[in-house]
Amino acid sequence: MKPTDLPTKLESLKQAKLYRRRKTTDSAQGIYLQVAGQKLLNFCSNDYLGLASHPELVTAFKQAADQYGVGSGAAHLVCGHSREHQALEEELADFTGRDRALLFSTGYMANLGVIAGLMNKGDVVYEDKLNHASLLDGGLLSGAKFKRYLHNDLGNLQIKMQGQGAEQQAMIITDAVFSMDGDCADLTGLADIAEQSDSYLMVDDAHGFGVLGKTGAGLVEQCQLSQQQVPLLVGTLGKAFGTSGAFVAGSEVMIESLIQTARTYIYTTALPPAIAAATRASLQRVIHDQWRREKLQSLIARFQTGAKQLDLSLMPSQSAIQPIVLGSSEKAIQASDYLLQQGLWVGAIRPPTVPQGSARLRITFSALHEEQHIDQLLTALETMPQ
Ligand SMILES: *Cc1c(COP(=O)(O)O)cnc(C)c1O
Repeated sequence: MKPTDLPTKLESLKQAKLYRRRKTTDSAQGIYLQVAGQKLLNFCSNDYLGLASHPELVTAFKQAADQYGVGSGAAHLVCGHSREHQALEEELADFTGRDRALLFSTGYMANLGVIAGLMNKGDVVYEDKLNHASLLDGGLLSGAKFKRYLHNDLGNLQIKMQGQGAEQQAMIITDAVFSMDGDCADLTGLADIAEQSDSYLMVDDAHGFGVLGKTGAGLVEQCQLSQQQVPLLVGTLGKAFGTSGAFVAGSEVMIESLIQTARTYIYTTALPPAIAAATRASLQRVIHDQWRREKLQSLIARFQTGAKQLDLSLMPSQSAIQPIVLGSSEKAIQASDYLLQQGLWVGAIRPPTVPQGSARLRITFSALHEEQHIDQLLTALETMPQ
């Protein structure tokens, strides 16, 4: 696009109600956010367990900053790999029941690096249609043949896999909890298909990690899938863990391979050591604060019951992501503007993040919400103009 075309392009996004704007917050992540002098009740963050501003994380961060300073100074393979990074990797490997874990600076980079690091031209990747953008981009970047199957439709996946050459390496890639719909992938079914077809299975558990599973190790733990069944497990640290960054967990040979080949690992500055230290503190809270997961589940249940009474049509989601599909982008914007007037911050999600005609409110809950907050949200949804 020529620079002279950009203003027209921006104008057409505005016309189509697809223009994106940021709001600036003046407070820490929490149930209430301060925005332009207004206190907004927060229903749009991914801080599912309410850990992002937990005092123990803040203390760990400060102590590590005293010891290590702020910047890591270099990539992991140069001189940026600190004792805090190493300890966090070992603890994450233990927690997920894998041989090793490898830190990345963001989930986006982990996904690009893993897929493009392992898959090449001549290989083939299979992705759920509703996979996160970073998984789709990783597949495209790898140069492998790129095939998308219908959302959560394993029959369709098997049809797409017919005729795959034996010489090709295949990878099946899925979100665990889908980020815009909140539903879960059939990981057990996918693991069976991967085993039968001798494919890698890569699972991105950005929204399940910390929240699902007996100990919070995510949907893979809940489904009791081994490292052999899910050889590539990605978890992100900026959501339920409340910090920043991501990791991939797997076998010794898988992690060593990624250290050699994942370009988004090799060619980027390591996370600040203080972030790793804060994440280690977070992991302790994830492990020991079972109450956060339980409370979150009970808030979700209260919302679902209330929404049913209001005849709101929810999606088949049992997770902390509860979307209400409204259709057009205009409707979604109007709804979120209305909620904003009521002091509630709920994200309006529009294409291309979601398919055309399925713009929606994306409501998310945190373990720090109280029942009264859920009721306040339900009241606002009840009075929302249609
Ligand atoms: C948020 C998200 C990512 C990206 O993680 P960041 O650490 O924010 O870059 C990747 N995959 C999924 C499914 C996500 O929801």
